[in-house]
Amino acid sequence: MPSRVARNCTGLVYPSPMSHETPPSANLLDGAALARRIRERVRDDVDAMMREGAPAPRLRVFLVGDDPASEAYVRGKTRSATEAGLRAETIRIPAAETPEKLLEGIAAAREDPDLDGILVQLPLPAGHDRNRVLDALDPWRDVDGLHPENVGLLHQGRPRFVPCTPAGILALIDAYRIPLSGRPAVVLGRSEIVGKPAAALLTARNATVTLAHSRTEDLPAVCRGADLLVVAIGRAGFLTEKFVREGAVIVDVGVNRIGSLEELPANLASSPRIRAEIEAKGRALVGDVDFDSVAPCARWITPVPGGVGPLTVALLLENTVRAARLRRGIRVPAGRDSV
Ligand code: NAP
Repeated sequence: MPSRVARNCTGLVYPSPMSHETPPSANLLDGAALARRIRERVRDDVDAMMREGAPAPRLRVFLVGDDPASEAYVRGKTRSATEAGLRAETIRIPAAETPEKLLEGIAAAREDPDLDGILVQLPLPAGHDRNRVLDALDPWRDVDGLHPENVGLLHQGRPRFVPCTPAGILALIDAYRIPLSGRPAVVLGRSEIVGKPAAALLTARNATVTLAHSRTEDLPAVCRGADLLVVAIGRAGFLTEKFVREGAVIVDVGVNRIGSLEELPANLASSPRIRAEIEAKGRALVGDVDFDSVAPCARWITPVPGGVGPLTVALLLENTVRAARLRRGIRVPAGRDSV
């Protein structure tokens, strides 16, 4: 029996085991600041490798097609990698090329002994078979952890490469010392790249995990059962306060690009903050969480941008250094593989 009954921001009454430590309003989980610290650590690791005479770890990213969001992500990844001292390159493949062109590129990368990390930017344009592409990766250089061998290792609790976004989520939770053991957690969204691995990682850390999705019945009630809510569905502002137990921790993975006021869902359209951003810049980046509605109910919440996004990039760099160490037989320092 919970010791206390808490009042939710929607006015519903329900029990909350965390209610005794619930502050009146949310604190920000600052992913950008943590990402900076991780990038500095990567830079130090790369410097140390090079002082010992080893070449800097080298990352190759495949970008297929000209989706502007994917282009921006890949630019960000290679720029951050270079700034951290890694060698990074992008292989661009026009959308009009046959899917074989990408597979040939991956096969060539596998033959290059000087490459440590190989990443295919997802999603791929129509016509590509994603599983065939992931199967073709070298599991020892699969720095986003999506090759079936690495997926299997993760689910067995002995990860080699943890997919970068869920690894970033766990790094953030750890940095803020958010308790997981025994706590109810809901992961909303069951993609291979975010939802499923995030659920596996939280389970391995003894959270009691519900993996919810578009077929879940009474989703608001399911989500209100969570002390920790990880939201990755790709629906702008979907998660409002009616999904949130007072004092919950909210991790918003969603990245939704809004190009005009008309594209905003009604709840976000009433936000003066978002309206002002679109009017000033002609666009806005919003999460899957309606931040203005949820933040007053939450204990901790990630902003968008500046939450999970920068961590995804930082963890990619860390995974690339890890790949270089594993391939070169250099010991991986304790604490670097503990997600
Ligand atoms: P995805 O592959 O499109 O999967 C979406 C998931 O959400 C599916 O499991 C789907 O359920 C579920 N879903 C969709 N609408 C729903 C609804 N109304 N109610 C409940 N569940 C719903 O998504 P993803 O690749 O994981 O990406 C999710 C979001 O995260 C996107 O905004 C993406 O841009 C963002 N993202 C951000 C980062 C980062 O670094 N910050 C990295 C990756 C992705 P079903 O399975 O039942 O269809």
